[in-house]
Amino acid sequence: MFNIVIFGAPGSGKGTQSEKLTDRYGLYHISTGEVLREHIAQGTELGIIADKFISEGKLIPDELVVDMLAKILDNTEEAKRGVIFDGFPRTINQAKALKTLLAERGAQVDAVIGLDVDENELIDRLILRGKQSGRSDDNLDTIRKRLVEYHAKTQPLHDYYIGEGSFLPVKGTGSIDEIFDRITAAIDARLK
Ligand code: ATP
Ligand code: MG
Repeated sequence: MFNIVIFGAPGSGKGTQSEKLTDRYGLYHISTGEVLREHIAQGTELGIIADKFISEGKLIPDELVVDMLAKILDNTEEAKRGVIFDGFPRTINQAKALKTLLAERGAQVDAVIGLDVDENELIDRLILRGKQSGRSDDNLDTIRKRLVEYHAKTQPLHDYYIGEGSFLPVKGTGSIDEIFDRITAAIDARLK
Protein backbone atom coordinates (compact mmCIF):
# COMPACT_ATOMS: atom_id res chain seq x y z
CA MET A 1 0.00 0.00 0.00
CA PHE A 2 1.45 3.36 -1.10
CA ASN A 3 -0.26 6.38 0.41
CA ILE A 4 0.09 9.98 -0.63
CA VAL A 5 -1.18 13.07 1.13
CA ILE A 6 -1.67 16.11 -1.07
CA PHE A 7 -1.34 19.23 1.02
CA GLY A 8 -1.87 22.90 0.31
CA ALA A 9 -4.06 25.94 0.88
CA PRO A 10 -7.60 26.19 -0.52
CA GLY A 11 -7.33 26.59 -4.28
CA SER A 12 -3.79 25.20 -4.44
CA GLY A 13 -4.91 22.55 -6.95
CA LYS A 14 -5.17 19.49 -4.73
CA GLY A 15 -8.28 18.14 -6.46
CA THR A 16 -6.99 18.73 -10.00
CA GLN A 17 -3.64 17.08 -9.37
CA SER A 18 -5.16 14.22 -7.36
CA GLU A 19 -7.25 13.11 -10.32
CA LYS A 20 -4.18 12.95 -12.56
CA LEU A 21 -2.19 11.15 -9.85
CA THR A 22 -4.97 8.59 -9.44
CA ASP A 23 -4.58 7.59 -13.08
CA ARG A 24 -0.79 7.55 -13.00
CA TYR A 25 -0.28 5.46 -9.87
CA GLY A 26 -3.53 3.48 -9.71
CA LEU A 27 -4.38 4.84 -6.29
CA TYR A 28 -7.80 5.49 -4.81
CA HIS A 29 -8.69 9.19 -4.44
CA ILE A 30 -10.39 10.37 -1.27
CA SER A 31 -11.33 14.06 -1.23
CA THR A 32 -12.89 14.81 2.13
CA GLY A 33 -14.31 18.05 0.69
CA GLU A 34 -16.08 16.11 -2.09
CA VAL A 35 -17.39 13.49 0.33
CA LEU A 36 -18.73 16.22 2.62
CA ARG A 37 -20.41 17.97 -0.33
CA GLU A 38 -22.11 14.65 -1.23
CA HIS A 39 -23.38 14.37 2.35
CA ILE A 40 -24.75 17.91 2.06
CA ALA A 41 -26.43 17.13 -1.27
CA GLN A 42 -28.03 14.02 0.23
CA GLY A 43 -29.11 15.82 3.40
CA THR A 44 -27.52 13.27 5.77
CA GLU A 45 -27.05 14.06 9.47
CA LEU A 46 -23.35 14.75 8.83
CA GLY A 47 -24.25 16.84 5.77
CA ILE A 48 -26.51 19.13 7.78
CA ILE A 49 -23.71 19.81 10.27
CA ALA A 50 -21.01 20.12 7.57
CA ASP A 51 -23.04 22.62 5.58
CA LYS A 52 -22.92 25.16 8.42
CA PHE A 53 -19.14 24.90 8.87
CA ILE A 54 -18.30 24.90 5.16
CA SER A 55 -20.42 27.91 4.26
CA GLU A 56 -18.72 29.82 7.08
CA GLY A 57 -15.25 28.85 5.84
CA LYS A 58 -14.61 26.76 8.97
CA LEU A 59 -13.19 23.27 9.30
CA ILE A 60 -15.54 20.46 10.28
CA PRO A 61 -14.73 19.13 13.81
CA ASP A 62 -11.96 16.52 13.78
CA GLU A 63 -13.99 13.62 15.26
CA LEU A 64 -16.58 13.88 12.51
CA VAL A 65 -14.09 13.89 9.62
CA VAL A 66 -11.91 11.18 11.17
CA ASP A 67 -14.96 8.92 11.65
CA MET A 68 -16.06 9.57 8.10
CA LEU A 69 -12.61 8.71 6.77
CA ALA A 70 -12.28 5.53 8.86
CA LYS A 71 -15.60 4.29 7.42
CA ILE A 72 -14.41 4.92 3.87
CA LEU A 73 -11.16 3.02 4.50
CA ASP A 74 -13.11 0.10 5.98
CA ASN A 75 -15.70 -0.09 3.23
CA THR A 76 -13.67 0.51 0.09
CA GLU A 77 -11.86 -2.46 -1.41
CA GLU A 78 -9.90 -0.27 -3.89
CA ALA A 79 -8.49 1.79 -1.01
CA LYS A 80 -6.42 -1.23 0.06
CA ARG A 81 -4.08 -0.68 -2.91
CA GLY A 82 -3.19 2.80 -1.69
CA VAL A 83 -4.84 6.17 -1.36
CA ILE A 84 -4.38 9.78 -2.33
CA PHE A 85 -5.67 11.78 0.61
CA ASP A 86 -6.88 15.14 -0.70
CA GLY A 87 -7.96 17.68 1.90
CA PHE A 88 -7.11 15.37 4.78
CA PRO A 89 -5.43 15.77 7.23
CA ARG A 90 -6.17 19.45 7.85
CA THR A 91 -5.13 19.59 11.53
CA ILE A 92 -2.39 18.01 13.62
CA ASN A 93 -5.02 15.89 15.36
CA GLN A 94 -6.22 14.58 12.03
CA ALA A 95 -2.63 13.79 11.02
CA LYS A 96 -2.13 11.78 14.21
CA ALA A 97 -5.44 9.98 13.64
CA LEU A 98 -4.42 9.16 10.06
CA LYS A 99 -1.12 7.74 11.27
CA THR A 100 -3.00 5.44 13.66
CA LEU A 101 -5.63 4.42 11.08
CA LEU A 102 -2.93 3.47 8.57
CA ALA A 103 -0.72 1.75 11.17
CA GLU A 104 -3.71 -0.45 12.11
CA ARG A 105 -3.75 -1.50 8.45
CA GLY A 106 0.01 -2.11 8.31
CA ALA A 107 0.58 1.07 6.30
CA GLN A 108 1.80 4.65 6.60
CA VAL A 109 1.84 8.00 4.82
CA ASP A 110 4.64 7.45 2.30
CA ALA A 111 4.82 10.93 0.78
CA VAL A 112 3.28 14.33 1.43
CA ILE A 113 3.14 16.61 -1.59
CA GLY A 114 3.06 20.23 -0.43
CA LEU A 115 1.70 22.52 -3.17
CA ASP A 116 3.06 26.02 -2.81
CA VAL A 117 0.99 28.89 -4.29
CA ASP A 118 1.03 32.52 -3.21
CA GLU A 119 -2.03 33.99 -1.56
CA ASN A 120 -3.07 36.44 -4.31
CA GLU A 121 -3.12 33.64 -6.86
CA LEU A 122 -5.15 31.44 -4.50
CA ILE A 123 -7.79 34.13 -4.11
CA ASP A 124 -7.96 34.74 -7.89
CA ARG A 125 -8.34 31.02 -8.60
CA LEU A 126 -11.06 30.52 -6.00
CA ILE A 127 -13.08 33.52 -7.17
CA LEU A 128 -12.84 32.24 -10.74
CA ARG A 129 -13.88 28.76 -9.63
CA GLY A 130 -16.82 30.26 -7.71
CA LYS A 131 -18.29 31.55 -10.96
CA GLN A 132 -18.81 27.95 -12.14
CA SER A 133 -18.71 25.75 -9.04
CA GLY A 134 -21.75 27.14 -7.27
CA ARG A 135 -19.88 26.24 -4.06
CA SER A 136 -21.12 28.09 -0.98
CA ASP A 137 -17.52 28.72 0.11
CA ASP A 138 -16.05 30.12 -3.13
CA ASN A 139 -16.87 33.80 -2.49
CA LEU A 140 -14.42 36.47 -1.30
CA ASP A 141 -15.73 36.74 2.25
CA THR A 142 -15.63 32.97 2.85
CA ILE A 143 -12.34 32.54 0.97
CA ARG A 144 -10.72 34.99 3.42
CA LYS A 145 -12.09 33.01 6.37
CA ARG A 146 -10.83 29.74 4.84
CA LEU A 147 -7.34 31.20 4.49
CA VAL A 148 -7.34 32.33 8.13
CA GLU A 149 -8.44 28.83 9.17
CA TYR A 150 -5.75 27.35 6.91
CA HIS A 151 -2.94 29.41 8.48
CA ALA A 152 -4.11 28.73 12.02
CA LYS A 153 -4.87 25.01 11.81
CA THR A 154 -3.52 23.43 8.63
CA GLN A 155 -0.22 25.20 7.94
CA PRO A 156 1.39 23.60 11.08
CA LEU A 157 1.21 20.26 9.25
CA HIS A 158 4.10 21.49 7.10
CA ASP A 159 6.49 21.23 10.04
CA TYR A 160 4.80 18.08 11.33
CA TYR A 161 5.46 16.21 8.09
CA ILE A 162 8.97 17.59 7.77
CA GLY A 163 9.50 16.00 11.18
CA GLU A 164 8.06 12.72 9.88
CA GLY A 165 10.52 12.87 6.98
CA SER A 166 7.84 12.58 4.30
CA PHE A 167 7.34 16.17 3.12
CA LEU A 168 8.03 16.91 -0.56
CA PRO A 169 7.58 20.59 -1.48
CA VAL A 170 6.38 21.35 -5.01
CA LYS A 171 5.93 24.72 -6.71
CA GLY A 172 2.19 24.89 -7.39
CA THR A 173 2.15 27.51 -10.16
CA GLY A 174 2.46 27.15 -13.93
CA SER A 175 0.37 24.89 -16.17
CA ILE A 176 -1.48 21.89 -14.76
CA ASP A 177 0.86 19.58 -16.68
CA GLU A 178 4.01 21.35 -15.49
CA ILE A 179 2.90 21.01 -11.88
CA PHE A 180 1.97 17.36 -12.47
CA ASP A 181 5.45 16.67 -13.89
CA ARG A 182 7.06 18.22 -10.80
CA ILE A 183 4.89 16.09 -8.52
CA THR A 184 5.59 12.82 -10.34
CA ALA A 185 9.33 13.59 -10.41
CA ALA A 186 9.26 14.06 -6.62
CA ILE A 187 7.25 10.87 -6.06
CA ASP A 188 9.33 8.76 -8.46
CA ALA A 189 12.56 9.90 -6.78
CA ARG A 190 11.02 8.83 -3.49
CA LEU A 191 9.91 5.42 -4.81
CA LYS A 192 13.42 4.51 -5.99
P1 ATP B 1 -8.54 22.53 -3.55
O1 ATP B 1 -7.05 22.69 -3.26
O2 ATP B 1 -8.82 21.21 -4.20
O3 ATP B 1 -9.11 23.67 -4.30
P2 ATP B 1 -10.31 23.31 -1.24
O4 ATP B 1 -9.63 23.66 0.05
O5 ATP B 1 -10.85 24.41 -2.05
O6 ATP B 1 -9.29 22.41 -2.09
P3 ATP B 1 -12.00 21.11 -0.22
O7 ATP B 1 -10.81 20.29 0.10
O8 ATP B 1 -12.98 20.57 -1.17
O9 ATP B 1 -11.61 22.52 -0.86
O10 ATP B 1 -12.72 21.47 1.20
C1 ATP B 1 -13.84 22.31 1.30
C2 ATP B 1 -14.28 22.49 2.76
O11 ATP B 1 -14.68 21.23 3.32
C3 ATP B 1 -13.21 23.01 3.72
O12 ATP B 1 -13.07 24.42 3.69
C4 ATP B 1 -13.75 22.50 5.07
O13 ATP B 1 -14.80 23.31 5.56
C5 ATP B 1 -14.34 21.15 4.72
N1 ATP B 1 -13.33 20.07 4.91
C6 ATP B 1 -12.78 19.32 3.92
N2 ATP B 1 -11.88 18.45 4.42
C7 ATP B 1 -11.85 18.68 5.77
C8 ATP B 1 -11.09 18.14 6.85
N3 ATP B 1 -10.15 17.21 6.65
N4 ATP B 1 -11.31 18.63 8.10
C9 ATP B 1 -12.21 19.57 8.32
N5 ATP B 1 -12.96 20.14 7.35
C10 ATP B 1 -12.77 19.70 6.08
MG1 MG C 1 -10.69 20.29 -3.56
